[in-house]
Amino acid sequence: MRKPIIAGNWKMNKTIGEALELVNSLKELVADVTDVEIVVAPPFTALQAVGEAIKGTNIKLAAQDMFWEESGAYTGEISPLMLKDVGCQYVIIGHSERRGYFGETNETVNRKVKAAHKHGLKPIMCVGEKLEERESGVTKEVVKDHVVNGLKGLSEEEMLNTVIAYEPVWAIGTGRTATPQQAQEVHQFIRELLGEIFSKEVAEQVRIQYGGSIKPENIAGLMAQPDIDGGLVGGASLKADSFAKIVKFGRSR
Ligand code: PEP
Repeated sequence: MRKPIIAGNWKMNKTIGEALELVNSLKELVADVTDVEIVVAPPFTALQAVGEAIKGTNIKLAAQDMFWEESGAYTGEISPLMLKDVGCQYVIIGHSERRGYFGETNETVNRKVKAAHKHGLKPIMCVGEKLEERESGVTKEVVKDHVVNGLKGLSEEEMLNTVIAYEPVWAIGTGRTATPQQAQEVHQFIRELLGEIFSKEVAEQVRIQYGGSIKPENIAGLMAQPDIDGGLVGGASLKADSFAKIVKFGRSR
């Protein structure tokens, strides 16, 4: 069975002090959770402090991006070695904000995904269509392009250590969540694609998160879908109580 994975993407929020306040509250609220893999992705500047604060807990550390080279003259970039050094186990790759504002392409996503695996980091690879693409009926073409090209050249073993986040761009930070049915349709499509690219056995084991305006009120409906294995949470991960409620989606409140 696929263990649900819920990750908080803090984006460009939280100073070190604020990040510590958030994670210290969160770790108490979710200390009893064993059935969900919990991940937080603070900004680079807070990775070390948050990494120290979650040592020995059930919370894992992710970065929000990285470059594919190990070191060198790449001003402003962060390497996979540096992320390993600071205690990251996961790295988000190809978030729509990086694709939209910072020129990330399928090719750069693929290089980063491969570099992550080379260094033992698990990539959370984001895919998803824009509003105009959904409205013009090309959602599956766009998602297929992101999935096929982002995963190019991965071994089955690497695929098993990759998480895919389906994040319709029109649902990110807008308060407009995809319905569980809309999300399930695309998740099922992605799993079928993985079956074609790799094998049915691999496809059955890969976790596919949904992302886009997840809140405590809508997580249970999404998680009830057969192909939704978790969430990538932006805004609602910035408060310990709302993120903890999302992590504990299966429990009565
Ligand atoms: C995200 O940043 O990946 C995201 C889904 O943001 P939000 O939850 O705020 O829509």
